[in-house]
Amino acid sequence: MTELIYLKNGYQKECEAAVVSANDKTIVLDKSIFYPESGGQPGDFGVIKKGSEEFKVISVKKSGGDISIEVDKPGLNAGDKVNCIVDWDRRYILMKYHTAAHLLSAMIHKHTNALITGNQLGLEQSRIDFDLENFDREKLLTYFDEANELIKKNIEVKSYFMPSEDAFKLPELFSLKGKLPPQIKELRIVEIVDVERNACGGTHLKNIGEIGRISFLKADNKGKNNRRVYFTIQGA
Ligand SMILES: [Zn+2]
Repeated sequence: MTELIYLKNGYQKECEAAVVSANDKTIVLDKSIFYPESGGQPGDFGVIKKGSEEFKVISVKKSGGDISIEVDKPGLNAGDKVNCIVDWDRRYILMKYHTAAHLLSAMIHKHTNALITGNQLGLEQSRIDFDLENFDREKLLTYFDEANELIKKNIEVKSYFMPSEDAFKLPELFSLKGKLPPQIKELRIVEIVDVERNACGGTHLKNIGEIGRISFLKADNKGKNNRRVYFTIQGA
């Protein structure tokens, strides 16, 4: 099992690690600062250094309990000690979008009771899909206003672990429709204090004030009961 550094501390930018296994350009480390592509959040980029040699991180994916990392060239071997550096500018933008998606989803859910059916985070815009028959553009814009008012209040975002059996008794922790949480002992809970909380393994800000300001871009109908909203973060 790879130790998930990004899950414990989303703000850590660098860590020492050891190569556990290597197959050409694909490696597994004992611990990963690199977030694997999942839950609509793209995987991290970055650099792995072995002495003076640098390997660029091309893709990061989950592989059972491990994190599988593809680098740009062969040369890393089991037992190697390496230094891992995450592409922080890119990661921080994704943390802003991810946390903003929680906040916006909470506003949509609060006013419409709609469940979130998916999301895709990007560096310039992101989208959220939700299960809703009717869609009121004017009302949607008021949810953005409400989210921006909360951002101005600099509300703390907490994350902590909860035994899965306790978490399953709280349906509000699973607002993503049809998403089955992993069968593990503990789930990571992310809580925008007094606004919403959800079981989530992504990377988040410590405070929603860091988001800045979110803006509505457009909304689409994507078939029956499926509405898609695009948003952007100014200055991200
Ligand atoms: Zn999350």
